[in-house]
Amino acid sequence: MQRTRLQRDCDVLVCGASFAGLAVARELAGSGARVLVIDRYELGERQTSACAIPTVWLQAMGLMDSWRQSFDEMVVHTPYHTGRWRLPWSFSTFDYRELCGLLREQAACAELELETATVTGRRGDTVRTDRGELSAPLIVDALGWRRVLSNASAIQPPNARLSRGLEVHPAGAGEEMELWIDHRYVRAGYGWSFPARDELRVGMGSFWPSHHVKEPTVRLARELRLPPEGYQGNWIPHQLRRAVEDGVFFAGDSAGHCLPLTAEGIRTALYFGLACGRELRAVIDGGRTREQALARYGAFSDAHARKFRWMLNVQRAVGQMTPSRAVTAIVRAFENRRLCAWTFEHYLAIAPPSFVSAGRPASRRGSALAAGQLAQAAS
Ligand SMILES: Cc1cc2nc3c(=O)[nH]c(=O)nc-3n(C[C@H](O)[C@H](O)[C@H](O)COP(=O)(O)OP(=O)(O)OC[C@H]3O[C@@H](n4cnc5c(N)ncnc54)[C@H](O)[C@@H]3O)c2cc1C
Repeated sequence: MQRTRLQRDCDVLVCGASFAGLAVARELAGSGARVLVIDRYELGERQTSACAIPTVWLQAMGLMDSWRQSFDEMVVHTPYHTGRWRLPWSFSTFDYRELCGLLREQAACAELELETATVTGRRGDTVRTDRGELSAPLIVDALGWRRVLSNASAIQPPNARLSRGLEVHPAGAGEEMELWIDHRYVRAGYGWSFPARDELRVGMGSFWPSHHVKEPTVRLARELRLPPEGYQGNWIPHQLRRAVEDGVFFAGDSAGHCLPLTAEGIRTALYFGLACGRELRAVIDGGRTREQALARYGAFSDAHARKFRWMLNVQRAVGQMTPSRAVTAIVRAFENRRLCAWTFEHYLAIAPPSFVSAGRPASRRGSALAAGQLAQAAS
């Protein structure tokens, strides 16, 4: 069926309306920029994860209205032992649709528009969609692992540096956030069960893209006496990619911003989305050119490379260890409260919640450039 043509002039075109894209838009609220956010689905229609995040991030972002359940402890099962890790901060599950709605409200300004369109590619500053071509001086790819706006040669799974994840969402209730590091399910990776008040999110992630996760996901759900229904799954990048390319900003999974080993990518998609939005805002305000903003954002992302590499090394080491008893020894070691607290505090510091308020402009009104001036600044 022929879709209505989408013809819009905008200053910022954000492709992807999930965590990264909406965080970018949030930072542009009140800037005076005409922001167009496009996604192939309606807002919040397709949940992309188990939706667990450090509670402090939900609080810092003002997203607690989407909250479902919190966990101070992580219960970790191996074939030989079940350990309880007492966390220095809690994880919370949230409702995806509600969180997207809240982010959209925070981003709301007269100049923000949200449209459904499927992005198929890009030529220069023109993005191709199934509803026609869209041009903008500032373009963000927040489209997830496919990195659709990159014109570099694509590496497809199973050869790409991607993990795979799949989960089911049966109705039910639970008290504990549980992990399974157990080769009987997956050779290198882990399984999980995250309760979210009236449903459970039970799934498997494999660090090795060639290993399928459907059968172990179904098996784990059945062992937990849950019907394997409400499937959702995706590829998960586990290596940092270039955050800027050919004049385009990449944020979230499209830039490989999901943390290796844990596959925690929501917090980092928000974090890098905010950083990207702040750079774009500086261009709108006339404080920087697009090139300067690209360089600064690229450097900001690169500055995290060492920590991402470190986590990738641990991911590889754990992948080699499973199924040995060494993993069990590590799980036992983390039952030590001090070690657990120290490690998780450092882990949180990779994308700390203090970043949410740290770089916010003093005035949300800003001194927006006129559209013509912006195009000049971007060139
Ligand atoms: C099974 C599973 C469970 C997970 N659980 C967690 C978890 O509990 N906690 C956590 O922190 N991380 C989790 N992750 C990782 C997390 O989901 C991602 O890192 C995170 O969603 C990245 O956010 P993003 O905004 O960059 O991309 P995405 O959330 O993938 O959003 C991309 C957006 O772009 C849109 N899009 C894609 N292609 C096109 C196109 N061609 N045209 C138009 N629109 C398009 C999509 O519809 C989507 O809205 C999980 C991943 C999986 C697979």
